Amino acid sequence: MTERTFSILKPDATERNLTGKINAVIEGAGLRIVAQRRIRMTEAQAKTFYEVHKERPFYGELVGQMTSAPVVVQVLEGENAVAKYREIMGATNPEQAAEGTIRKLFAKNVGENSVHGSDSQDNAKLEIAQFFTEDQIVG
Ligand code: ADP
Ligand code: MG
Repeated sequence: MTERTFSILKPDATERNLTGKINAVIEGAGLRIVAQRRIRMTEAQAKTFYEVHKERPFYGELVGQMTSAPVVVQVLEGENAVAKYREIMGATNPEQAAEGTIRKLFAKNVGENSVHGSDSQDNAKLEIAQFFTEDQIVG
């Protein structure tokens, strides 16, 4: 089924000029980038976005990291886009990520791991709506 997922190219990736290389992996996997914008995430946006992790010890560090440099927010579309993107992203910790995945190729460590991808279709809808209006998504 064709569906959409939400992606962020994180500060550690934009700082190292990896936007194009990561987009090449995304497009090479058959996912279409149907919306994309480079933004400076505000502290309020980062806190809301990662609210589910607010009790975790790394929450403050995570919010700090996400607001430290520009990010690229994206909507990806394709067959089973949510699961497919999680697969090509690789494990959260790059040391555990499979060969050829974005995190294995590019991530610095478990915190600065280059990309975000939604973990369910429900969260994808909520996350997309936090950053894009429907008319900004061109499939
Ligand atoms: P994922 O991004 O793979 O869905 P989580 O939802 O578990 O992973 O965590 C959200 C983000 O929080 C991670 O991508 C990473 O940037 C950060 N994070 C997760 N676990 C840790 C950790 N143990 N130490 C530091 N940062 C972490
Ligand atoms: Mg997650």
